[in-house]
Amino acid sequence: MSGFHRHDELAVPGPLHDHPLVDDYVSAGATRDLKVGDRTLHAFSDGFLLMTPDFIGNPDSPTAGYDMLAAQYGQVRLPLGCFLLRGERNVLIDTGYGPVDNRGGGFMIGGRLLTHLARLGLQPADIDIVALTHLHGDHTGTLGYLNSGEPVFPNARTIIGAADWQPSVVARTAPLPRPGHTLAALFELNARGLVEFLDDDQEIAPGVIRLAAPGHTPGHSIYVVQDHGERAIVLGDAMYCPQQLDDIELVRVGDIDPVLARRTRERLLIDLARHGGMAIGCHFPELKAARVLTGS
Ligand SMILES: [Zn+2]
Repeated sequence: MSGFHRHDELAVPGPLHDHPLVDDYVSAGATRDLKVGDRTLHAFSDGFLLMTPDFIGNPDSPTAGYDMLAAQYGQVRLPLGCFLLRGERNVLIDTGYGPVDNRGGGFMIGGRLLTHLARLGLQPADIDIVALTHLHGDHTGTLGYLNSGEPVFPNARTIIGAADWQPSVVARTAPLPRPGHTLAALFELNARGLVEFLDDDQEIAPGVIRLAAPGHTPGHSIYVVQDHGERAIVLGDAMYCPQQLDDIELVRVGDIDPVLARRTRERLLIDLARHGGMAIGCHFPELKAARVLTGS
């Protein structure tokens, strides 16, 4: 039980609690408060992901992205980013991998999300909207309780890019590691009328806009948080590491449609260069937001 404080409600539960990376500032321990106008976008990590060398590369070098991250950080490990915006409606963007016990064979361990919400004074029932970037397992892992598949956020309208439902949930051709409890929760949320499928761009809560950003998955969404002329864009997996903001040819191997994903990245870069603002991906090391410099 070393490192686990039974009576401390903020102790990290599950398989992450005694892992050496539990408080790693780059991955599982990454937290950051991003100021957007008068509002605060809380960024925190559900756990960590270990990247393999061929994860992100370009035509000249299939390991280019990994090599850049390794030069900066040594062991390449990334966070499982989740984002909370408090307000008239409390919005949670993505839910990490959840407390699945992946020790031994796992390259990904999560389970910290609810601890972070408790630290911020929120219970799961306080979340009004769960906005998902896409339905991969490292973004949907806390939608359902592990043992029952019962929805964790019982009051939340759950936003899903419409084009992701068929491949991820119905046909299950997209990877959903340990899908049982997550699928059960998605079906139950849908049966309760709590799932909202979007295929266009629209405001989902005051100051939070969903934009279609397909490529990594067909229905991939990004979320723009704006207040008093400032904005932050939560990129999900539209970009996997900040190096993709500098090099449009850096490709994430797992993008379902690499050509469309490249077009989406290009569109985002032009938008960020033109209109400014912060951009942050769910797996950006240290959960550090980036800006695009126009060079002028
Ligand atoms: Zn991901």
